[in-house]
Amino acid sequence: MKVTIYGSGYVGLVTGALIADVGNEVLCVDVDEKKVANLKKGIIPIFEPGLDDVIKRNVEADRLDFTTDMDRAVAHSEVQFIAVGTPPGEDGSADMQYVAAVAKTIADRMTESKVVVNKSTVPVGTGDMVEKVIADGLAARGQSISYAVISNPEFLKEGAAIEDFMKPDRIVIGTDNEQAMEVMRELYAPFCRNRRDRLIFMSRKSSELTKYAANSLLATKISFMNELSNIADRLGADIEDVRVGIGSDPRIGYHFIYPGCGYGGSCFPKDVKALIATARENNYDAKLLSAVDSVNDSQKHVLFEKLMKHFDNDIKGKKFAVWGLSFKPNTDDLREAPSRVLIESIFEHGGTVRAYDPVAMKEMRHFYPDEKRLELVGTAQDTVDGTDALLINTEWREFRSPNLEALKSSLKRPLVIDGRNLYDPAQMVEHGFTYDCIGRPGKH
Ligand code: NAD
Repeated sequence: MKVTIYGSGYVGLVTGALIADVGNEVLCVDVDEKKVANLKKGIIPIFEPGLDDVIKRNVEADRLDFTTDMDRAVAHSEVQFIAVGTPPGEDGSADMQYVAAVAKTIADRMTESKVVVNKSTVPVGTGDMVEKVIADGLAARGQSISYAVISNPEFLKEGAAIEDFMKPDRIVIGTDNEQAMEVMRELYAPFCRNRRDRLIFMSRKSSELTKYAANSLLATKISFMNELSNIADRLGADIEDVRVGIGSDPRIGYHFIYPGCGYGGSCFPKDVKALIATARENNYDAKLLSAVDSVNDSQKHVLFEKLMKHFDNDIKGKKFAVWGLSFKPNTDDLREAPSRVLIESIFEHGGTVRAYDPVAMKEMRHFYPDEKRLELVGTAQDTVDGTDALLINTEWREFRSPNLEALKSSLKRPLVIDGRNLYDPAQMVEHGFTYDCIGRPGKH
């Protein structure tokens, strides 16, 4: 099959590369000329494990190409995927301008039948909007060409995107158009060979809502655990024991109930806010989701509040080591990352930071060019040398088993504030650390 994908970000690139990898001819389109020029040279704009290899072999096999040429993009295929960004607007609602722009691009150029597949995360009713933009565009050109607009939200996780796309838990398709269903069955057959029931068909609106429902439920689990961890902290209970205690109930389960220093990334914060906005526009006050969002905003300040307590509210002139900058391991994505809230609070109060992240440092430098306030160094151990405390933001695997003796002797004061509960509090105290983490007794 031939496939066009508008938007060469995380979702567009992963989708494009893997659809090409099973034998299709894919054209990835972007308005960002520099990004497309780089992709053509083999420079991948994001860090996603394994993605560069898949892109390389498919470019070499002539199954994958990149362009900014919209005429070519529309003419290339019957199947036109929309995978552009849907960032939050001022009021938290999703900004639909990029999706609408792609719809217009298609409407102004199509000369034969199209299946327009919306993969971006979009508010319920966006399919209707896209359908109307295309209908208006065709009417303005006096054309009558058949087309279907369907919803196919993406559930991949950054850091595990290739595995998620190749072996999806489910592929949700929102349409009542039989022909479009057939096209989707054919396109996705290689990704659900073992279980056809991974393809779930439903109405377009239900499909659009399914994506928000999934992300909002996951965000709710995190905020719930973070709230409990704050209660546990005040009571002297250990949230990690509580986690194991509740996870053993199969109705609850162990997945996604880890407390931490808040969720970030390009999806959870924006999708929870967008669903709250959609509810509000439809005269419903989403109280639970609003609480999920506000608990998360507060949680991103927890590490800094702990730090201030240890320094009697005065960190002026102090330098802190920070391990982990990305919002989660295996990605360089810093959008809404808790590390940024922490680092900005330290700057605001007169402190400086020396940080290390296995992949996100280049991206971090774009946000914070001042090398005096933010030093970025090559290893985790180099980060701590002569600093006043260590703060941990991201649970990268390489932080799990540090040389505690070396760590202690490098720090001016043996204080570790851990936003991901990586270590055993008793062991840390035994090694002479003051260890402050999330919802566990451990300080001394
Ligand atoms: P991104 O910001 O990484 O990429 C979007 C790309 O679209 C950019 O390169 C931008 O230049 C391009 N673009 C903008 N307007 C365009 C146009 N008119 N034509 C062609 N390209 C255009 O975004 P992303 O993270 O890939 O997310 C895309 C969508 O998928 C969002 O709605 C997001 O919520 C959703 N989603 C993201 C993830 C994720 O993990 N990142 C997972 C599931 C769903």
